[in-house]
Amino acid sequence: MRPLPEAQREVLAAIDQLPTERIELAAAAGLALAEPIVARHDLPPFANSAMDGYAVIAADVVNAPVTLPVLEDVAAGSVPTLSVTPGTTIKIMTGAPMPDGADAVVPVEDTEPGQREVRILAGVPAGESVRPAGDDVAAGTVVLNVGERLTPPRLGVCSSLGYARPLVRRRPRVAIMSTGDEIVPPETSQLAPGKIRDANRFTLRGALEEVGADVVDLGIVGDDADELRATFATAAASADVVVSSGGVSMGEYDLVKHLLAELGSVDFWKVAMKPAKPFAFGSLGGKPFFGLPGNPVSVAVAFEQFLRPALLHMMGSDKLFRPRLHGILEQDVKTDPMKIVFLRVNVAPGADGLLRAHLSGGQGSNILSALAAADAYAAIPVGVAEVPAGSMVELEMMKMPEARTAAEVTGG
Ligand code: AMP
Ligand code: MG
Repeated sequence: MRPLPEAQREVLAAIDQLPTERIELAAAAGLALAEPIVARHDLPPFANSAMDGYAVIAADVVNAPVTLPVLEDVAAGSVPTLSVTPGTTIKIMTGAPMPDGADAVVPVEDTEPGQREVRILAGVPAGESVRPAGDDVAAGTVVLNVGERLTPPRLGVCSSLGYARPLVRRRPRVAIMSTGDEIVPPETSQLAPGKIRDANRFTLRGALEEVGADVVDLGIVGDDADELRATFATAAASADVVVSSGGVSMGEYDLVKHLLAELGSVDFWKVAMKPAKPFAFGSLGGKPFFGLPGNPVSVAVAFEQFLRPALLHMMGSDKLFRPRLHGILEQDVKTDPMKIVFLRVNVAPGADGLLRAHLSGGQGSNILSALAAADAYAAIPVGVAEVPAGSMVELEMMKMPEARTAAEVTGG
């Protein structure tokens, strides 16, 4: 059996980054930057008011209350035509440029506005409620680096700095198929004896969309050499990555193995992990191929440990693996000491604020309901046979974005 980190390293080493392209910001969510985002100007570009109020010279209002004549009103988007001179004020709205001469803003709440003057009720220190130019980002600063994925606030940063078409790596197109004579589509209203509805294609589609890939759904393929051959060929021709589920465990090994050998070079691996020990990886028609096991939980675990990091690597992301937090496992659990075991757990903070984890249901690799209910995988390392209740464990958080690099996880 291959240790998991070694298998992950091998997969990542075999996969190239996708080409770069410029893309409209509106379509860029989740993509990784292929250029740094450098501030071409100060942000904000000009000193402006943080409050609706009155721009003043702070020294004029130390002895508040004082009454000052209001020279003009400045709204956001317009510019002052006058300067604040000693003993005067200009009414200003949030985001409007500070008039020359003024060095502070008295919030409207601390005033009694009159017709052409205002009574200032409280003094303010110089600088109060003023956002200087470059307060957020100074011109020339590198705000975002190559490899950072465009989260919502990062999209906002790009827009603020005029990067309307940032350079990113394009989305991977991923072909998926479910294999097995027993698998029927979800629309099947009456299950014939021996048949089950397809889970994996939809688990995969959701996971692929979450990571930002485009999905090419090739449907369900029976355990039939000609059908499999044709579908694999279509997949390799129409996508950047080919993913199948089922058919890589011992029972069906031979059929798929021969076929894949005709179309490319694929290795059948036994990875020291549970679930998802059997796993096929290689290339089909020049495209990376991932043959995931058939059991629904194995599909999800193999996706998280191999496919998701590989796709993020193709997309140029600097982080590939989801974060691990520490928490206390509340149950006694026996695990396989020869493998890293990914237990499906619920996670919530206890009264002391520390994270507590408990099994979210049955731990068979077919128990999709327990995976659906889970928040995290408790990763029990190789060499551990029993985890007594109260042990501290590592929790790989299923719903948090990636936070760990390949080097951190695979050691190289
Ligand atoms: P296999 O790897 O093809 O031997 O499949 C292992 C187990 O996973 C079997 O019980 C299959 O019926 C089941 N399985 C395979 N593909 C799917 C699928 N797409 N949805 C749900 N279960 C599946
Ligand atoms: Mg099968």
